[in-house]
Amino acid sequence: MDKMLHQKAINYLNYFCKEVKDRSVGSPGNRKATKFFYNTLKELGWQTNIQKFDAFDWENGGARLEADSEKFEVYVSPYSLGCNERAELKAASNIEELENGDFNDKILLLYGEIAKEQLMPKNFVFYNPAEHQKIISLLEESGVKAIITATDRNAALAGGVYPFPLIEDGDFDIPSVYLTAENGRKLLTYEGQTITLKSNSKRIAGPGYNVIGVKGKNLFQQNAAQRIVITAHIDAKKGSPGAIDNATGVALLLILAELLKNYDGSKLIELVAFNGEDYYSVPGQMAYIKANQDNFDNILLNINIDGAAYKIGKTSFSTFDLEPSLEERVEEIVEAHSGLVKGSNWVQGDHSIFLQYGAPAVAISSKWFIDNIDTQQITHTKKDNLEIVDTHKIVEIAEALNQLLRKI
Ligand SMILES: [Zn+2]
Repeated sequence: MDKMLHQKAINYLNYFCKEVKDRSVGSPGNRKATKFFYNTLKELGWQTNIQKFDAFDWENGGARLEADSEKFEVYVSPYSLGCNERAELKAASNIEELENGDFNDKILLLYGEIAKEQLMPKNFVFYNPAEHQKIISLLEESGVKAIITATDRNAALAGGVYPFPLIEDGDFDIPSVYLTAENGRKLLTYEGQTITLKSNSKRIAGPGYNVIGVKGKNLFQQNAAQRIVITAHIDAKKGSPGAIDNATGVALLLILAELLKNYDGSKLIELVAFNGEDYYSVPGQMAYIKANQDNFDNILLNINIDGAAYKIGKTSFSTFDLEPSLEERVEEIVEAHSGLVKGSNWVQGDHSIFLQYGAPAVAISSKWFIDNIDTQQITHTKKDNLEIVDTHKIVEIAEALNQLLRKI
């Protein structure tokens, strides 16, 4: 184990998780993190580029809901606008009720069947069921002043969070809050009466950036070159230090940048700090796709790092659509490192973008997280902090990738 690299990995993690704290897209901390990444790559001799996009930071000022003199515990839906409304409460539990009811100028409670799973953001292109789009457009046409959603336990769809926000969409402009299914049933008894809902949340416009570093012999004929694109998202969920998700991934990219300082192989190596994996509209990923629209077919391989270096268990290398010779190279590297194993396939990461555009991929994560993906309650919470990171694993993965890249 290289002591100097290990110390650097610790320094990078401290910077991203302690000095910066909030890395959610649109926040000042997010811009601080991308600037640091940019400067470090530059110091290490990489040609650097940025891709800028518009976003907003979101401030959750809490909310208050009162019916008669009864107070209800409510949470503001992430990215929601604030409100201060006094209006009649009406309720809907399915699409038919939503379609046929008159909700103009009312506060609307959504509960039961219609609130069973989180609605995809209205402009999300990768996966968006027709039913979700229908609900969103009915709500937007209804004239409601504000929405309260009562959601039940749904471990598989919301990572065990209870209650979960039915709406998590910065492009949806009707203010909304959420509460537990139990409280939703209590609130339902006030249907037809006037209630008060006040929420102090707000959106603050601010840009975000992807940062890209490039190296290789073919640097000056980029279009003809075969590229290997190594990605890790630099943003974190609001309210979480985002240590495993995904400060470790970004620290790893910087350690790898150091190991590849003198890379002069035949491939073009591209290191990408993606910005937006944990933001509703994945703006950095969309910006990257737009810039690379006609360029995905020269990508030989994507290696995406997300969720790596958890203190428990081994590091998993999951391979997707690799040519046999490339698969063999990966297997050799995995076998040569005691902390690495081949992993099962999972789709909840940025490697999916490359797969959609026909490029093969390797996804690197912690085996424990892949095995417990539906039940673990660490991701996106305060529990995802530096205490659960094994910093040695960052160096081991970076050294393995360095060897792999020099064999391709
Ligand atoms: Zn992540």
